[in-house]
Amino acid sequence: QKFVYDFTEGNKDLKDLLGGKGANLAEMTNLGLPVPPGFTITTEACKVYLETGSEPASLRDEVSAHLDALERTMGKKLGQADNPLLVSVRSGAKFSMPGMMDTVLNIGLSDASVQGLAAQSGNERFAWDSYRRLIQMFGKTVLGVDGELFEEALDEAKRAKGTVNDLDLDAGDLRGLVETFKGIVAKQTGRDFPQDPREQMDLAIHAVFESWNGDRARLYRRQERIPNDLGTAVNVCSMVFGNLGEDSGTGVAFTRDPASGHQGVYGDYLSNAQGEDVVAGIRNTVPLSELENLDKASYDQLMSIMQTLEEHYRDLCDIEFTIERGKLWMLQTRVGKRTAAAAFRIAVQLVDQGLIDLDEALHRVTGGQLAQLMFPRFDESAKAEKIGWGIAASPGAAVGKAVFDSYTAVKWSRSGEKVILVRRETNPDDLDGMIAAQGILTSRGGKTSHAAVVARGMGKTCVCGAEELEVDTKRRRFTTADGRVVEEGDVISIDGSSGRVYLGEVPVVPSPVVEYFEGTLHAGADEEGGLVQAVHRLMSHADHRRKLRVRANADNAEDAARARRYGAQGIGLCRTEHMFLGEERRRDVERLILADTDEERESALAHLLPLQRADFVELFTAMDGLPVTVRLLDPPLHEFLPNITELSVRVALAEARKDPNENDLRLLQAVHRLHEQNPMLGLRGVRLGLVIPGLFSMQVRAIAEAAAERKLAGGDPRAEIMIPLVGTVQELEIVRDDAEQVLAEVAQRTGVDLRIALGTMIELPRAAVTAGQIAEAAEFFSFGTNDLTQTVWGFSRDDVEASFFTAYLEKGIFGVSPFETIDRDGVGSLVKHAVREGRATRPDLKLGVCGEHGGDPDSVHFFHEAGLDYVSCSPFRIPVARLEAGRAAI
Ligand code: PEP
Ligand code: MG
Repeated sequence: QKFVYDFTEGNKDLKDLLGGKGANLAEMTNLGLPVPPGFTITTEACKVYLETGSEPASLRDEVSAHLDALERTMGKKLGQADNPLLVSVRSGAKFSMPGMMDTVLNIGLSDASVQGLAAQSGNERFAWDSYRRLIQMFGKTVLGVDGELFEEALDEAKRAKGTVNDLDLDAGDLRGLVETFKGIVAKQTGRDFPQDPREQMDLAIHAVFESWNGDRARLYRRQERIPNDLGTAVNVCSMVFGNLGEDSGTGVAFTRDPASGHQGVYGDYLSNAQGEDVVAGIRNTVPLSELENLDKASYDQLMSIMQTLEEHYRDLCDIEFTIERGKLWMLQTRVGKRTAAAAFRIAVQLVDQGLIDLDEALHRVTGGQLAQLMFPRFDESAKAEKIGWGIAASPGAAVGKAVFDSYTAVKWSRSGEKVILVRRETNPDDLDGMIAAQGILTSRGGKTSHAAVVARGMGKTCVCGAEELEVDTKRRRFTTADGRVVEEGDVISIDGSSGRVYLGEVPVVPSPVVEYFEGTLHAGADEEGGLVQAVHRLMSHADHRRKLRVRANADNAEDAARARRYGAQGIGLCRTEHMFLGEERRRDVERLILADTDEERESALAHLLPLQRADFVELFTAMDGLPVTVRLLDPPLHEFLPNITELSVRVALAEARKDPNENDLRLLQAVHRLHEQNPMLGLRGVRLGLVIPGLFSMQVRAIAEAAAERKLAGGDPRAEIMIPLVGTVQELEIVRDDAEQVLAEVAQRTGVDLRIALGTMIELPRAAVTAGQIAEAAEFFSFGTNDLTQTVWGFSRDDVEASFFTAYLEKGIFGVSPFETIDRDGVGSLVKHAVREGRATRPDLKLGVCGEHGGDPDSVHFFHEAGLDYVSCSPFRIPVARLEAGRAAI
């Protein structure tokens, strides 16, 4: 097995093996772009190391061979005393994990070779600065020394010099600092800083391997749903220096604006600096366009390389580069992260440029991004008190209480507060707080600072580099340019699309994308630089491609009408239980439950009938011409009765007053009678229909009469009746016989040909397993994946997410709640089984899903693969389901 690839040997499609960075360095090398020579150690080597605790036996020799070749190419040897080759050792996994794993620069420097570097570069200060950076970085990441100790020593050196600027430290100061740093290493680790360059390199490689399992990396992967077993590659790359003087520098660039998607010159540049200075947002950068004035030749070359890259990758690329004494070097490229709006715009722009087709464009946007574009934003006409302004780093409108550290952000958000994390700049240790916060505000750093990159990746609102805000994390407050003080707990609002910061809560308005779906904004409108048009074109293509139909879960005319505007092709689930609520209906339900005689029960049902019928008339009107699946009553009856404690108190008080209320007493008895230990597994669904005579028949009658009424009025109602919680075909047969009788009776009486299909939910494991039998009595199945997940896992859907799911997610038992994304292996395989068996019995069986999973992007792909006819989800998720159904089909 080969564990090491020279940059000339790989290519961009080897990301599994070489990681994203390694694969793209190889691709650029082979495109003839100026990449410093180097090699990549594969993720396979990392996996062996993590599994066995040591590197693969052959790795050492392989690394030696590649190092020899690198040394020959460079004409110098690693750590050679008079003319040292220096290398960086960088992590690089298949998926980008910005700042989450380790990197060590300047490997190869030692007490001897630092002199060589000074001579070779003609810059003694630079040599000693590089050496102190190595000891600092190596000490912290490889040897595990507390980074603060180095920072304090550096601050102390500056204090002694009477300055706050690193650049004021001269060669002598830095030489002293190197001694101090070496002392720190020796004291903290009990060993001297290693002088052997190869030992430095090997230790750094192992540290990078290990950083795959660091806390930060694990948390990030969980958040981003990156599998834990991929491992990282390690890139060993010859060093080039951006900190050799004013003719050197380093920067990042995007081939398009990652926030808006527009073409232009986007990026940041920092002269006389190394890459880490930019990414950390420590010093403020200048816009990339400034480079044209500073170094025109390098600027022109960079522009031309960017065009090459964009055409080659056929996508937005981001780039890290360094200029060493006027020579441009490419250190990294990748297909860049972008905001949701940019993703839609860029996909469509690339189609118009002829670089990709519509299928590819659709593939490049996600339902998650579309969902983000549907978030509301701040109302521009509202009076809002602007207190600052920064860089619009990640869009959205976020409102919350200002907090100044990650710990408080997490603590407050756990107790239900909305918070905005305010920091001078963020670093990977802030990740927990960033996840917990509604949005992130920093006072330093550009579009490529840690805060910006991570927030964009998470889809979280972020304003960064709001420089006039003076953030004082120690005193937990920030001060605005005009001297106002915002304390911890004060509410602020941040706008990640404009970069504005406001005091107090600013009201929000719907997004233009929602207005487009609502039909109040024309698709041709040039809203937000073509965003609405881009959404329109990709939605149309998705609709054209998809095999799945999309229906809505809706149980009133208003939701139904909205769903229809959003593109619903019917209702997949009307839960009739809401029709049993409300004061008047509640009383009828109570009477139904308390009924001692047939007359009492029938009278209660007779009261409910016209109310139900009127509801269905409205619903069928709103969905005229499209199918409406009405589910008969599902929840346990006690849900319609008063709370047992309150009622007991009322009864007890009345008794104490010697004024007992007969009705309350009967109610209390009924509540006791109906009380269940596990109501979710008790008297609900079809079971209820079977033990309360006349209940389901009344509902069927209401549906049939409503349909007849609509037909007679010239409408086109397409009712379907669905029986919940069926476990065996016998249950279904009984309900079905009754229902058919009622339907025939209504048809005869009204003279209307009703044609109402009768089907069932598949939401119990037994139903899924015996689907072949159940299909004998059902014209359609709708998978109730909420209950199916609950019963397959034995997880109470109402309890577990708040109790032990966090622990399960932390332990990696699953990456996402099975109530959110379908569990393919368990629940999913039952769904597939039921599809197969059901269709074997009844080839024209119609199949859908109406659990929450119907609107979840990943799950939609599964339902497409499983061959369902439709998914049904809440109205707001319909566009997402349409888009994902289209993506699943290409
Ligand atoms: C389901 O169980 O998936 C379902 C749609 O029904 P409910 O959520 O109403 O139980
Ligand atoms: Mg259910």
